Amino acid sequence: MPAVQPRARHAHPAVVLKPGREKSLLRRHPWIFSGAIGAVADDLQSGDSVEVRSSQGQFLAWAAYSPTSQIRCRVWSFEKAEVPGPELFRRRLQTAFSLRRALLPAAAVDALRLVHGESDGLPGLVVDRYADTLVVQILAAGCERWRAALVELLGELSGCAQIYERSDTETRELEGLPRRAGPLSGAAPSGPVEITEYGLHFLIDPASGQKTGFFLDQRANRQRIRALFAEREVLDCFCYSGGFSLAALAGGARSVVSVDSSASALALAQRNLLASGLEAARVSWIEADVFRFLREMHAKGRNFDAIVLDPPKFAPTQRHAQAASRAYKDINLFAFKLLRPGGLLATFSCSGGVSADLFQKIVAGAAADAAVSASILERFQAASDHPLLLEFPEGEYLKGLLLRRN
Ligand code: SAH
Repeated sequence: MPAVQPRARHAHPAVVLKPGREKSLLRRHPWIFSGAIGAVADDLQSGDSVEVRSSQGQFLAWAAYSPTSQIRCRVWSFEKAEVPGPELFRRRLQTAFSLRRALLPAAAVDALRLVHGESDGLPGLVVDRYADTLVVQILAAGCERWRAALVELLGELSGCAQIYERSDTETRELEGLPRRAGPLSGAAPSGPVEITEYGLHFLIDPASGQKTGFFLDQRANRQRIRALFAEREVLDCFCYSGGFSLAALAGGARSVVSVDSSASALALAQRNLLASGLEAARVSWIEADVFRFLREMHAKGRNFDAIVLDPPKFAPTQRHAQAASRAYKDINLFAFKLLRPGGLLATFSCSGGVSADLFQKIVAGAAADAAVSASILERFQAASDHPLLLEFPEGEYLKGLLLRRN
């Protein structure tokens, strides 16, 4: 029998918290802010695995250290026995993948979020699957350190040979990491990848699309729009590659006006319409700034029976909340003005810096200023392949309301 090598008692450097600052960790919150940290071992490097202890010396968690970020440590595990490394990552990925298999009918949907960062116990890692291609974001120092192991495991466990990286985000800079994009495994994609979502077909360009190429988080909400917007004259604002527009058309909308400021997004949307076999005559694609377009429609006295507002992230953090509130209020105000009585408004915010509560208040303020009464019929959130950890409310970003103008 091979001899068992005893592991050094302190094989990993330690981070010791200030007195009383262990509370959030005991509640399994996965972030440690710089202000909570008392002492750190000398020579800690970005991405190092550290053992986090209370001021009393109690083991709290294994975490990844990030010297430049305000989020100084992100937890890999709260179990002493779960030392960070490929074995732990394999288990985390297996769990994440099997959750998704149980959530979505593989025959109807071949695009899904396989890994959603903290929610899957892999802080800073986002993996979207588009047919046989994975698009990966490595957004924190810990994942950066383990990138080779993670990419190898992702290929092995998903069976996807094409893995493309889209870590070209601002959040990387907060971690002191350069933006990165390009193939991680397999050749660079020669063109868009086609995916299927409940009978609709979308082209995704991993190299140049927004985020990782598609807004998977809106999948279930697209299905609701498909069911609810039949027979209606629809306005889809910030339509990107046509997600909500195609859903409305497939559900029998009478007409759809789709607006986005990006010409390339609109070109993609038109190809998606064609690929999905939908009637081009029922939709108008308009390249315009939504803020200006809504005013123009109002000035012309145009009305709609249903409107989608799915703008980009106006407030990435709470610091931007005020300016973002004004922007949300503005578009919602004009949407209410354009909506006929009995009309439906599906309005979204994907800003982490604007809570669901605040968003509802902003929308209520917009209705008041438009002098209309409206009722909330449903609330929207990110699809279930973007789970939200109960102990990590910061993970909530997408929220939405389905309203009826009374
Ligand atoms: N509803 C889409 C996702 C929207 S993403 C879906 O379900 O797939 C936000 C979109 O808003 C992007 O396509 C971006 O090009 C567009 N955009 C950003 N600012 C804009 C503006 N001021 N006017 C019009 N479009 C804008």
